Amino acid sequence: MNPCDGYDASCVFCKIANREKDAEILESDEELCCFPDVKPGAQHHYLVIPRMHLGNCLSLRKEHVPLVQRMMEMGKAVLQKSHVTDLTDIRLGFHVPPFSSVPHLHLHVLAPASQMDPRSLRMYGPQSVWFLSADQLLKKLNSQKDSCPAEAKPSDS
Ligand SMILES: [Zn+2]
Ligand SMILES: [Zn+2]
Repeated sequence: MNPCDGYDASCVFCKIANREKDAEILESDEELCCFPDVKPGAQHHYLVIPRMHLGNCLSLRKEHVPLVQRMMEMGKAVLQKSHVTDLTDIRLGFHVPPFSSVPHLHLHVLAPASQMDPRSLRMYGPQSVWFLSADQLLKKLNSQKDSCPAEAKPSDS
């Protein structure tokens, strides 16, 4: 398989997506893949990444909303495959820099959220300022204006 555009040879997640580094791929399609987190913070802890190297969640724009939604769907599908039945008791979200260990966009998928220990909660919990839930990110992206430079100019009426 040829590495696609946006491949960063120094990035461990790019290597996993290209099968150059071993990881247990739980689910994949032409756009995304999902594998277990090496340091699980909950009974189930998976990462969903785009195969293409994208930076962290702060570099995303409104046009990435469908991508984030597909990442969430794959995360939930993997949880269901792993027999997680209560999809209300999960955490889906992104680390905010400088707190992301790998600078390749990755969605953390954790379950059950109610059984995370204090250390995990600090990293992935609702109180963590370094963790943006997928819903929060979607809200943020959706509130962005479409980037049209003409609109940004003050109108001289
Ligand atoms: Zn990468
Ligand atoms: Zn992370």
